Amino acid sequence: MKYWNEKMECMGAEDMRALQGERLRNIVRYTYERVEFYRRRMDEAGVSPDDIQTIDDIVKLPFMQKKDLRDYYPTGMFAAPMDEIVRFHASSGTTGKPIVAAYTASDLDDWAEGVARCLTAYGVTKDDVAQISYGYGLFTGGLGAHDGATKVGCSVLPTSSGNTAKQIMLMRDLGSTVLCCTPSYALYLAESIEQDKDTDVARDIKLRIGVFGAEPWTEGMRKALEENLHIKAYDIYGLTEVSGPGVGGECECQDGTHIWEDLFYPEIIDPVTLQPVEDGKEGELVFTTLSKEGMPVIRYRTRDLTHLTRGRCKCGRTAVRMAKILGRSDDMLIIRGVNVFPSQVESVIMQMPEFTGQYFITLDRVNNIDTFDIDVELKLEYHSDSIKNINAIKAKLNAKLVSVLGIKPDVHIVEPGSIERSMGKAKHVLDKRNFK
Ligand code: ADP
Ligand code: ZN
Repeated sequence: MKYWNEKMECMGAEDMRALQGERLRNIVRYTYERVEFYRRRMDEAGVSPDDIQTIDDIVKLPFMQKKDLRDYYPTGMFAAPMDEIVRFHASSGTTGKPIVAAYTASDLDDWAEGVARCLTAYGVTKDDVAQISYGYGLFTGGLGAHDGATKVGCSVLPTSSGNTAKQIMLMRDLGSTVLCCTPSYALYLAESIEQDKDTDVARDIKLRIGVFGAEPWTEGMRKALEENLHIKAYDIYGLTEVSGPGVGGECECQDGTHIWEDLFYPEIIDPVTLQPVEDGKEGELVFTTLSKEGMPVIRYRTRDLTHLTRGRCKCGRTAVRMAKILGRSDDMLIIRGVNVFPSQVESVIMQMPEFTGQYFITLDRVNNIDTFDIDVELKLEYHSDSIKNINAIKAKLNAKLVSVLGIKPDVHIVEPGSIERSMGKAKHVLDKRNFK
C-alpha cells in the first residue's frame, strides 16, 4: 500500500484549504464556547468566531505559548468534559510543571491515523514486526508509536526504552523489522549490537526501517544509523501539545517531513515580529489543531525552527513538507555572543568516522568569559594510534568545528563509552552559566 489515506495525503491545494477553513471555523467556535482562555484571548484581540470564515482568517487569531498551557495546569485548557477524556500524557518539561495533554477517543484515533500515515510512507505494512523502544508512559513516544503501528496491523513488540540486552535478544529472536525510538537510543542500540558477541547485524538482525524522532538529528546521524543497523532511517515529528509523534513524517523521497495538514495546520512566523514568513524561509513553526477535542491548540508557538515547502512531492503527496528541525529556539546556545545549536556540533562529529558519535558540551563562565568544552569519544581502534595521529584527528575536528560554528571550542578526546548513553531524548549540554 502506498498511502494510508490517499484522499488526505494527496488532496489538491484548493480543496485542502477549503477543508482547513471549515475545520478552523469549527475549532474556533468550539474552543471559544468551552475554554475561558480562548474566549478571553479572542475578546482581548477583538476577534469573534464569526470573523473566522476561511483558513486565511487564521492570522486574526492570537498566538499561544507553552506558558499559557502551564498557567492553566492541570485541566484549564481541556475543552471536553472529563467523561469524554480517555487518556492523559505530559511533556517531559524539565523545569516547573509539566504540560498535561488530554485526549478523547476521537483524538487518539486521529493521532494513530497520523502515525499510520507516517509508517505507510516509510513502507511499513502489517507484515512488519515493529519494536517500540520509545519510552511508554506519560511521554507520547511509546504509546503514540504503539497505537499507530497497531492501526497499520504490525506485530507490535512494546519493549519501551532501556534494558538494552533484552531489547537486542527480542529483536533478534522475534525478527523485528521496524525500530521506533529516539535516534540517540538507536545509536546506543547499534553500538550494543556491535559489542554483543552472539549477535551479528547482517546475520541476526532483520531490521529494515528506523522510525526516529522526538529530538533533532542530523543527516550524519542518519547515515551512521543506516550503516550500523542496515536500515533506512526515517524522520517522525510531533509534540505533546499538538498530539505526539506522527504530526508528520518523511516519505521514501526523504525530501522533507510531510505534515498532515488536514489535522495539524502549520504556519511559519518570524519569532520576533510574529509576522508570517514566506515558504522556503526559516522561522518558528506554529500549529493549530484542526480536529482535536480534548485539548485543542490554536496558533501554538512550538519554538521549533524550520521552513516549509509546498507543491506535489515525487511520492505523489501534496501534504506540505517541513525541513529537518535544527533545534528549538530554547536549545540555541549563545556562546561568546555566537549562536550555536548542539545539532551543528553533531553534524560535524558525524562526518568523521573516527568518532563514536557521542558528544557532550559543557559551558561555563570564567573571569566573565564563556568557556566552551566539547567531550568527544574517539573509537577504540584509534586510541592505539600515536599521539601524533590522535592530535591530527583532533586538529581536523577543531578546524571543522570552527568553520561550521564560527567559534572555537576546547575539544577533549575521551574514551569510548565514557559519555553517558541516553535511552530517550539525549542530553548533550550542561550549561553551568545557568547556575551562576
Ligand atoms: P518535551 O517538550 O518535554 O521535550 P515532547 O516529546 O512533546 O516533550 O517534545 C516535542 C519536541 O521534540 C518538539 O517540539 C521538537 O522540538 C522535538 N522533536 C520531536 N520530533 C522531532 C524530530 N523529528 N526532529 C527534531 N525535533 C523533534
Ligand atoms: Zn513525499
